[in-house]
Amino acid sequence: MNPNLPTQSLFKRFSKYLKDFKAAFAVAIVGMIGYASLDAWIFSKLQPIIDESLGSQNYEFLKLAAFFVVPIFILRGVFNFMGTYTLAWIGNRVVMNMRQQLFEKYIHLPVSFHDTHSSGKLISKVIYDTEQVSAAASKALLTLVREGAFVIGLLVVMFYNSWQLSLVFLLIGPVVAVIVSVVSKRFRIVSKNIQKAMGNLTSSVEQALKGHKVVLMFGGQDIEKNRFLEKNNHNRQQNMKLLVTQILSVSSIQVLASIALAFVLYISSLPTMAEQLTPGIFTTVVVCMTMLLKPLKQLTTVNSEFQRGMAACMSIFEVLDEDIERDTGDKRVDKLKGKIELDDVSFTYPDTAKPALQNISFDVDAGKTCALVGRSGSGKSTISSLLTRFYDNQGGEIRLDGLAIDKIKLADLRKQFALVSQNVVLFNDTIANNIAYASENATREEVIEAAKIAHVEEFVSMLPDGYETIIGENGSKLSGGQRQRVAIARAILLDAPILILDEATSALDAESERLIQDALQKLQRNRTSIVIAHRLSTIENADNILVIEQGKILEQGSHTELMREDGAYAQLHKLGFSEGETEQVDVDGKLP
Ligand code: ATP
Ligand code: MG
Repeated sequence: MNPNLPTQSLFKRFSKYLKDFKAAFAVAIVGMIGYASLDAWIFSKLQPIIDESLGSQNYEFLKLAAFFVVPIFILRGVFNFMGTYTLAWIGNRVVMNMRQQLFEKYIHLPVSFHDTHSSGKLISKVIYDTEQVSAAASKALLTLVREGAFVIGLLVVMFYNSWQLSLVFLLIGPVVAVIVSVVSKRFRIVSKNIQKAMGNLTSSVEQALKGHKVVLMFGGQDIEKNRFLEKNNHNRQQNMKLLVTQILSVSSIQVLASIALAFVLYISSLPTMAEQLTPGIFTTVVVCMTMLLKPLKQLTTVNSEFQRGMAACMSIFEVLDEDIERDTGDKRVDKLKGKIELDDVSFTYPDTAKPALQNISFDVDAGKTCALVGRSGSGKSTISSLLTRFYDNQGGEIRLDGLAIDKIKLADLRKQFALVSQNVVLFNDTIANNIAYASENATREEVIEAAKIAHVEEFVSMLPDGYETIIGENGSKLSGGQRQRVAIARAILLDAPILILDEATSALDAESERLIQDALQKLQRNRTSIVIAHRLSTIENADNILVIEQGKILEQGSHTELMREDGAYAQLHKLGFSEGETEQVDVDGKLP
C-alpha cells in the first residue's frame, strides 16, 4: 500500500468495516445528538431564569424547573447510554473483525513473507494497531458528533440571545481550522512512529523471551537490557511528542477563545450594546462561550485520535494487501501413489543472489526411498521446501504421479506429504493433540498406535498425565529426542503417500534411532520417502542416494554403488565413521 495515500482513501476503505452497522450507527447518532441538544437546551433556559424569574421575582418558573430537572437528567442518561454503548459496541466489533482478518491473513501468507517480517511486529499489529483503529471508530465519532452537536447547539443559543456578541466567536473559527489542519499532519507522522516503536518493542521482548536461554548462557543481559532500554525510551519520546502537540494545540485554541471572550467583554461595555443587554443575555452568552471551550478542545483532540486510527489502519491494510500463498492449481487429487520427479529444477531464495539449487533432476518411484546427503547448507532442506511448495521453483518442473505440482490444489498437494522437518514444531497442547494435529478424525487407538511405533509410548507412560500432558511452548517440557519422536508419531498417523524426514532422527541416541529406523522402514515399505540425514548409517538401505553439493547433484546411486565409485559419498562415509564410537561398532558390521 502506498504510504502517502491520502486520508480520504484510507478512510473510505476503513468505512467498509462499518457498513454492517448502519442501524447501530443510527441509534448512536440519535443518542449523541439528543444528549447534546438537551445540554444546549438547558443552557437556553438560563436567560429566562435570570431575567424573567429571578429578575422580576416571579418564582413560578423556578418551581416548574424543579419538577423537570430530574426527568431531564434521566433522559440525558438514556441518550448517553445510547450513544456511548452503541459506539463502543461498534468499535469492539471492528477491532474483532480486523484482528480476525489479520490472523487469518497471517496463517495464509507464504513462508517468504514470514521470513522477512518479525513476528513481534506482526503481533503488535494484531494487539495494538487494531485498538488504535477502534479509538478512531468510536471515540473520534463520539466526540465529533456529540461535541459537534453541542457546539452547534450552544452557538444557536448564543445567536438567539445576541447575534452581535456571538459574531465575535465566528471570527476565530477559521483560525481554529488552520491550527487543526497543521496539527493533524504532525499527528499522523508521530502516530506512525509510535506504531513502529511499539512493533520494535514487542519484537525485542519476543526475541529476548524466545532466546532466554541463550541470553542466560552468554551473559547477554546487559546487551539485551540496553537494547530494550533504547527502544523503550524511543517509544516514550514518541508518545511525549504526541502529547506536546496535543497540549500545544489545546492551549493555542484556548488562548484564541480567550481573545474572543475579551472582545465580548469589551463590546458589552460599549454604551450602545449595554442598552440592549440584560443580565440574562450577558450571562448566557458568556457562559455559552466558556462552555464552548471544552467541546472545541475535544474536537481538536478528536483529530489526533482519528489520525492515529488512520495510521494504524494503514499499518493493518499493508499486511492485508500482501498476496497470500498463490494457489495456482485447480486439480483436485485424493491420494496419489507418490512418484516424484524433479526435472531440471532451479531455485534462488528471494533477496539472495546465489541460487540454492541448480538444475536438479531426479526421480523417486512410488514406494521407494531416496536419501539426500551433503554438507550443511548444500540445499537438502530446500528440496523438501520446494516439494511442499513452501517456495515455488523458478526453473524446471516438479511432478507428482506425472502431475506438475503447481497444477495441483495446494491443500491437496500438502495432504500427500507427511513432513518431519529439521525444526520440530509442536504446539502448547497435550501430547495426544499434538500427535493428532493434522488428523482430525483419528481415533484414540490410532493415536496410541502411532505413538507406539514412534516410541513415544515409552516416555509417555512415565508421565503422570500420560497423553494428556501439556508439553509447553514448542514442547519445551520434552527433551529434544522426545520432541522428535512426537513429530514422527504425527507424521506416522497422517498416513500420507510421501514421507519427508529431514534429520528426523538427529536428536536420538543410537539405540532409539535404531528402533525408530526399524519402525520407519516398515512404514516406508508402502510409501515414497525422502530421507535427509547427516548420519549416513541411517540411509544405507535407501534405494537411491543423492549427494548434494552447493545446490547441485554431485553423484547418485545406491550405497554399494557409491562406495564402489569411491567419490564424495565414500569420503563422507569415512568421515561419518569417525564421529561416534557406538555408531562405529554399529556400522562396522555392515562394512563390505
Ligand atoms: P543443513 O544440512 O544444515 O540442514 P541444508 O542442506 O538443508 O543444510 P538448506 O536449508 O537447503 O541447506 O539451505 C541451502 C542454502 O539456502 C543455504 O546456503 C542457506 O543459507 C540458504 N537458505 C536457506 N533458507 C533460506 C531462506 N529462507 N532465505 C534465504 N536463504 C536461505
Ligand atoms: Mg536442512
